[in-house]
Amino acid sequence: MIGNEYAVANTTAFKAINPLTSAQLDGDFFPAQQKDVDEALKQAVSAFAVYKNIDKDRKAAFLRAIAQEILDLGDTLIERACAESGLPAGRIQGERGRTVGQLNMFADLVAEGSWVEAIIDNELPDRQPAPRPDIRRMLVAMGPVVVFGASNFPLAFSVAGGDTASALASGCPVIVKAHAAHPGTSALVASAIQKAVIATGMPEGVFSMLFDNGYEIGAQLVKHPKTKAVTFTGSFKGGMALTQLAAEREVPIPVFAEMGSINPVLLLPAALETRAEKIAEQYAGSITMGAGQFCTNPGLLLAISSSGLSRFKNTLTEKIAEISSATMLTSGICQNYETLTAEMLQESEVTLLVKSDKSQADATNQAHATIAEVSAKDFLANPKLKEEVFGPWSLLVVAENAEELEAVLEYVGGQLTLSVMAEDEELSAYQSLFEKAEDITGRILLNGVPTGVEVCAAMQHGGPFPATNDSRFTSVGTTAIRRFVRPLSWQNWNRKLLPAALQDGNPLGIWRMVDNVMTK
Ligand code: NAP
Repeated sequence: MIGNEYAVANTTAFKAINPLTSAQLDGDFFPAQQKDVDEALKQAVSAFAVYKNIDKDRKAAFLRAIAQEILDLGDTLIERACAESGLPAGRIQGERGRTVGQLNMFADLVAEGSWVEAIIDNELPDRQPAPRPDIRRMLVAMGPVVVFGASNFPLAFSVAGGDTASALASGCPVIVKAHAAHPGTSALVASAIQKAVIATGMPEGVFSMLFDNGYEIGAQLVKHPKTKAVTFTGSFKGGMALTQLAAEREVPIPVFAEMGSINPVLLLPAALETRAEKIAEQYAGSITMGAGQFCTNPGLLLAISSSGLSRFKNTLTEKIAEISSATMLTSGICQNYETLTAEMLQESEVTLLVKSDKSQADATNQAHATIAEVSAKDFLANPKLKEEVFGPWSLLVVAENAEELEAVLEYVGGQLTLSVMAEDEELSAYQSLFEKAEDITGRILLNGVPTGVEVCAAMQHGGPFPATNDSRFTSVGTTAIRRFVRPLSWQNWNRKLLPAALQDGNPLGIWRMVDNVMTK
């Protein structure tokens, strides 16, 4: 889909696969070619010249129209997404709510308008020894953004997901490289965006979507000289490959890659002593939710040896054994899960605690939840053990004391989340551990589970490398918009030609910093 048309494809069609049955689904999907990449970027550049100047209320109306068009797809979208992902209808309905909610959240942000961070330093003609010029600064859109749809959120991090919503909100056109695991879902959502483009009179080319049944088109999109930024959610290998491609361009561009995280959970002694069974139950649910296919899945449980820890282990083992296998998103992801769990368990110092043996009858691509244990000393000596295992896997690392816990945190490196299960009275004793924790993570949470990422202004979904390649940004929440903008200052510029956000009299009624004072 290039702009408002479907391009004619001269490539070999591929089919979507239902991971639950391994059966092919209806519909032929065609990988794009270099000419399609060129055409999509050409249209995006023309659209950008118009779109960036469209007023904020019309942009907001466009985002809201996309949300409504997605809702109007009704059960057709839910059924297709379930068939292509193996995820249950309840989860997909929830994800649709989140997708629509994100679009409306960015519509509100754009309509309110203060996100552009307008700063005005009025001229000081009498300043000595030299007058100060009039300088006005705000954030402006960068240009065409390439979005790589994620496999594990077929709606909320895919064609009209958070990356697309935030890029369109910022004033940038979007070209989505759809994930090959859910092409029918992608096509339906793209058609909803296309309808919204036409209905709200947005310039053609503000949105395009291409398929790729390999890496070629994705690579060409990143290397294309008109592409200004890239977003990605997926494997460490994929994220780093795209980051490198972008860095090697004649004009390097930013890639915002959300990659791997094992999301450590600190289980502190008093918490285990007081409520080991309750915590184990909570974490059995979090580890297995969505077949463990969340970037925030708790892959590393960290505790000091104690009787409370033994009770935690017993309950976690019991609960995991009761949980039936779950369908993974693709056969590749399932094979990866099996290979990696087998490799982990082959490490001599790792002990299997439990592997659920309950299977869904006649289902393919099944993941069985698995928990293993290792001492902190052995964990620190074997880098293999800190790799992300995407799926319902968690490794319990048992330390002898708080110093070992601290060493483990330092060793695992950047994370999206870090959870602490603790009683209030023990918090002060672990302050230095928490400081170490803050150094390595994007979000630190107390007495909860990391799965379930709230979409709100204060959310940080990102973290130091290798969780992402740029810890300054988030891919969830309103500040995700900052990835696609750059600051621009106008000096002594003609007042009438300034953007409305910077004009005298504040015609947009937004919050601005004027001569160092926040005003409206
Ligand atoms: P992936 O292999 O990293 O692929 C994600 C997207 O990037 C796909 O569209 C893929 O294209 C494209 N891509 C990957 N490498 C590329 C390259 N070198 N050049 C150009 N394009 C490239 O992730 P996945 O397919 O979602 O799942 C595979 C593994 O990723 C999982 O087993 C898991 O370990 C990890 N994963 C992590 C997260 C997370 O949030 N951290 C989320 C999902 C997956 P194709 O569609 O054509 O393959």
